[in-house]
Amino acid sequence: MQKYYPDFELESLYRIHLEPTSKCNLLCPMCPRSINGASVRKTLELTEISFQDFKSWFSPYIKQLKSWVLCGGTGEPNVAKDMLKIIEYIRTEHDDSFIHMNTNGGVRTPDYYKELGKYFPKNVDRGQLIFSIDGLEDTNHLYRRNNSWKKIMENSQAFIDGGGKAEWEFLIFKHNEHQIDEARQLSKEMGFVKFIAKKALGFQHVNDGVPISHPVYNKDGNIEYLLEAPTDENNRNLGSRTEIGNVDIHQSIPLASRYKWDKIFMDSILDFDPKTAHAEFDYERRVNNSTINCKVLGKPENPEDKHEIYVTAQGLVMPCCWIGTVYYVPSNWFELVQIQQVVKKFGEDNISLYKNTLEEVYNSGYFNIFKDGWNKDNIRCGKLGYCATTCGENNQIDDIWTHEENERAK
Ligand code: SF4
Ligand code: SF4
Repeated sequence: MQKYYPDFELESLYRIHLEPTSKCNLLCPMCPRSINGASVRKTLELTEISFQDFKSWFSPYIKQLKSWVLCGGTGEPNVAKDMLKIIEYIRTEHDDSFIHMNTNGGVRTPDYYKELGKYFPKNVDRGQLIFSIDGLEDTNHLYRRNNSWKKIMENSQAFIDGGGKAEWEFLIFKHNEHQIDEARQLSKEMGFVKFIAKKALGFQHVNDGVPISHPVYNKDGNIEYLLEAPTDENNRNLGSRTEIGNVDIHQSIPLASRYKWDKIFMDSILDFDPKTAHAEFDYERRVNNSTINCKVLGKPENPEDKHEIYVTAQGLVMPCCWIGTVYYVPSNWFELVQIQQVVKKFGEDNISLYKNTLEEVYNSGYFNIFKDGWNKDNIRCGKLGYCATTCGENNQIDDIWTHEENERAK
């Protein structure tokens, strides 16, 4: 098997991306936890990592770990009841650790955020708290469904006044692209150290070159409005644009049927047959021709590089946040079911930190199942389509990062 530098070896682990909880106060329509903004998926286990579990899983490595990402794909970190204790523990055991955390800003109280600010000191390079605020008072809730503008403003100001380093991240849609400059100005007035306008994922599927909009449903399962791609092409994520033909986005789908289909999709992952499963022609051609350079293993030509892993709120070790998040998404899209099947076949019990130490997971051969899938000829014989979409040529993640670098340079 090809050797990678760095490889998935415990000695070169420098960062853990941890999902403290799968619970959240919001229902963002394109978030894996929500059914198009209508309700939380019933197939998602709502859980969180306790301080005791955190300590027993990671204390042997806490001095080795240089960096933490506290975010996750299906939850708001500050909903986790032990969040402050966990951060305090990281700071006590390894004060220099870099902690990057995300929040929608709409939970807890200003006093809580003020306290949180102490762990992200503004004038020291030890991390930051990113507030995800996608617009202004009249637009933020169109994506960040259920959030309260007043609360976000109070909490973020309390965090900044408490000495915390705050950044404002602004996902761009058609409904808010005209507000970027105004939001940037507000961020400066409040004391945010950075403002980052960021391309949203989710508009890569096109019909005759036009990005397909996302329907947002109300709690009865009826369409309330559409989320549309930005009009300015510079604000669009076009990395892995895929033609998927005519799609009727105006169908209302009864929620009871959505729950039923979610369950059917999740229950049939092991039945998936990559040899015969449907894949769009345009998609299959693109991923088969794509060379995969795993983002968490850094640059192969640099043996000094270190790697990171992702741990889900359910305690499962994943090679990266992208796989860790889609693992819980019910779908019949080829690459999602394929990657879910690969992990499920290896066995959740073998990668759960409730049942194994981190060292045991590393020694189990788990990471080879991903590495094996990078150099296969095509997706019918085991090439991992999701890895190609995420870490192959023209991938949508690089497109976000390029944009982000430009924004950070402003
Ligand atoms: S705030 Fe984050 S975790 Fe919560 S619904 Fe939105 S995207 Fe998902
Ligand atoms: S998607 Fe695959 S190739 Fe990309 S970072 Fe994750 S494991 Fe590596």
